[in-house]
Amino acid sequence: MSFEPSGGFDRMWADLAPVGRHPGTGGYRRFAWTREDAVLREWFRGEADQRALDVVADRAGNLWAWTADPDTAGPGLVVGSHLDSVPDGGAFDGPLGIVSAFAALDLLDRAALRRPVGIACFADEEGARFGVACAGSRLITGVLDPDRARSLTDDDGTTMAEALTAAGQDPTALGRDDEALRRVGTFLELHVEQGRALDAPVGVASSIWPHGRWRLDLRGRADHAGTTRLDDRQDPMLTLAAVVLEARAAAERRGALATVGKLRVEPNGVNAIPSAVTAWLDARGPAEDAVRALVADVGGAAGTEPVEESWTPDTRFDPQLRDRLASLLDAPVLPTGAGHDAGILAAAGVPTAMLFVRNPTGVSHSPAEHAEPADCAAGVGALARAIEALA
Ligand SMILES: [Zn+2]
Repeated sequence: MSFEPSGGFDRMWADLAPVGRHPGTGGYRRFAWTREDAVLREWFRGEADQRALDVVADRAGNLWAWTADPDTAGPGLVVGSHLDSVPDGGAFDGPLGIVSAFAALDLLDRAALRRPVGIACFADEEGARFGVACAGSRLITGVLDPDRARSLTDDDGTTMAEALTAAGQDPTALGRDDEALRRVGTFLELHVEQGRALDAPVGVASSIWPHGRWRLDLRGRADHAGTTRLDDRQDPMLTLAAVVLEARAAAERRGALATVGKLRVEPNGVNAIPSAVTAWLDARGPAEDAVRALVADVGGAAGTEPVEESWTPDTRFDPQLRDRLASLLDAPVLPTGAGHDAGILAAAGVPTAMLFVRNPTGVSHSPAEHAEPADCAAGVGALARAIEALA
């Protein structure tokens, strides 16, 4: 058989292109349980319908589109990714995996599949709205406590429970979902590579670096910018400056990565000394102790204990699956510093692998994120071959 990309890929890509795209930045704002998210989920259901796939939602609202019933035909091979984005994200992070999954299925003779194939659309992967990445996969694997999830709030003060209700979901359903997990014999996620580590059209993931998010609550005293003497100020913005510089210095010392990419300043006035600054630290590295040490260093500069909002330990993908795919596809093997639902499922004991599609500039989580059409086509072909081999 040939693995030429189907025309379906371009049509699906064009369908998704306008959804949640900000006209000013050109980036995507596709946040969990918003109107844009609903459009994306409807799109997913429509593509599944066109292919006569049965869509089931699990307790966290993740969608699974099956070629056959995994409850009667046995656990299946699941491919897929997510459709939500970071603020002003690129078009590829997430959707490439789902569009490629549908396109790969189109290339295959479904009658020849030995076990059910599912296409997954994970909810709230980026955690852009409620702060916890991979919320959908963490919920069904029991890593994210449902009470905590329901009470997470977005920047407008809306809780996840309220957002779910507004989106027509049942927030009381959240929780570990062994039934959904039992259906997944193997999980394979195709994703755009998010650095410059891949110098071939397609690669196979070895591991995901340990990574997490921490909140730093820096307190001060609100006061007048024009009348308060420098000596009399309690200005948390100065502490923030020390925190940001220490995050960079500690990352260099520890051979890791650290980013302060989100802030909340109160009262956020030009002529007011802030009463409080909340900063979020993202830290990752090849070794857990290096990341932990980095976070402690930053806590020292902050003068306060960083509050851990999420933590994902070092995640190794199934070595047999990794080697089998690398040899089947003649593809290089590489680690990544980016978190994925695949990592959550792997940590939960599901045999899991990832395919990466080359990112020529390495830019991701940005409107400038890009992958060449030929590499995307190679990704679809690779995914089709993988499905044929594994299902
Ligand atoms: Zn992603």
